[in-house]
Amino acid sequence: MKIHEYQAKALMLQFGIPAPRGRVAFTPAEARAIAEEIGGKVVVKAQVYAGGRGKAGGIKMADTPEEAEKAASQLLGTRMVTHQTGAEGVAISRVLVEEASEISRELYISVLVDSTTKLPLVMASEAGGMEIEEVAQAAPEKILKVSIDPAIGFQPFQGRKLAYGMNLTGKQVAEATRLMTNLYQLFMTKDCSLAEINPLAVTADGRLLALDAKLNFDDNALFRHKDIQELHDEEQEELLEVQARQWGINNYVKMDGNIGCMVNGAGLAMAVNDLIQYCGGSAANFLDIGTLNTTERVVNAFKMFVADPRIKAVLVNIFGGMARVDVIARGIVEAYQQMDISFPVVVRLAGTNVDEGKRILAESGINFIEARDFYDGADKVVQSAKGRKK
Ligand code: GDP
Ligand code: MN
Repeated sequence: MKIHEYQAKALMLQFGIPAPRGRVAFTPAEARAIAEEIGGKVVVKAQVYAGGRGKAGGIKMADTPEEAEKAASQLLGTRMVTHQTGAEGVAISRVLVEEASEISRELYISVLVDSTTKLPLVMASEAGGMEIEEVAQAAPEKILKVSIDPAIGFQPFQGRKLAYGMNLTGKQVAEATRLMTNLYQLFMTKDCSLAEINPLAVTADGRLLALDAKLNFDDNALFRHKDIQELHDEEQEELLEVQARQWGINNYVKMDGNIGCMVNGAGLAMAVNDLIQYCGGSAANFLDIGTLNTTERVVNAFKMFVADPRIKAVLVNIFGGMARVDVIARGIVEAYQQMDISFPVVVRLAGTNVDEGKRILAESGINFIEARDFYDGADKVVQSAKGRKK
């Protein structure tokens, strides 16, 4: 789960990480009032669940409260399109108004889980401000990494190594070490999946300041962080993903293609997406209906496809282990009875009660395309989506 920058900065402050003075505004008038309170130059920043705002015009400098009000009115109510969003962008309904800082250098620090070592990793770079992916491509030697043993935590020598590596000197070394220790503490305490400060500014007067803040949280640990859960801003999410959750489909991710997929098991769902790609098509979604199934869950998955105007064809690929194929088949029949299904549906069934499932589908008289196996299913759905039904 993601949260907004201003919320991440508030959490960082609680953990002793310095950020510019500022507050969130929902209206231009509020933005003006905050700017008056701060006094002097401010930065008005669009609050969206996406980075790349700077290049996309989402960060505006304002010399006076009037300019802050104007900047806020230009941002609020519009949609932010950055290279991290789709073309439709995300809604801007709040802006962060904060004291402008004089920057002498822009650094980068983050904590994440390294999927190779399965350990927390602290990363640092003196090439902050720009996307870390770009630095990784252009100058990988500028990204410094230390792996953390969670049993002993982040050690001061590791902080010094990273601080010297970023060419910090004097008091800044201890300050950076403290800051990274605090970021690591925050990461562990709040079960983050990513804690990132980019840029971490070295100000003109030599202080370290988090100018941007990004915290992502491990969804599986959210149950023990009700305070974090409450920060969630549904408006920032894909409408289809919000809809899926409301219909009890928790494992749904919207993708770019036009083939709807309904699969049981996340691994199988990924394999299905790969195979569709391999056969020359592209999936509109990742949808894992879970291990144990009800007909209602299947009907709701079809509601998702009907609600998605991009869908040209659907592939149902079920390997029943604990899931029962007959239950799935009944769900498909019910979906056809309840909805006007105008796209071709390719069905591949295998596993527990498969014969019963096939009998139910055959006797129902619904119009579907049967697939012999996994590959045949992917091939048929790709052909169907192209309008060349086999
Ligand atoms: P992002 O583009 O979404 O990652 O947004 P950031 O919050 O990182 O801001 C982008 C850039 O705006 C930063 O790299 C800074 O160069 C600049 N910026 C942000 N806040 C300030 C500020 O207070 N003062 C100055 N001078 N520049 C700022
Ligand atoms: Mn940034």
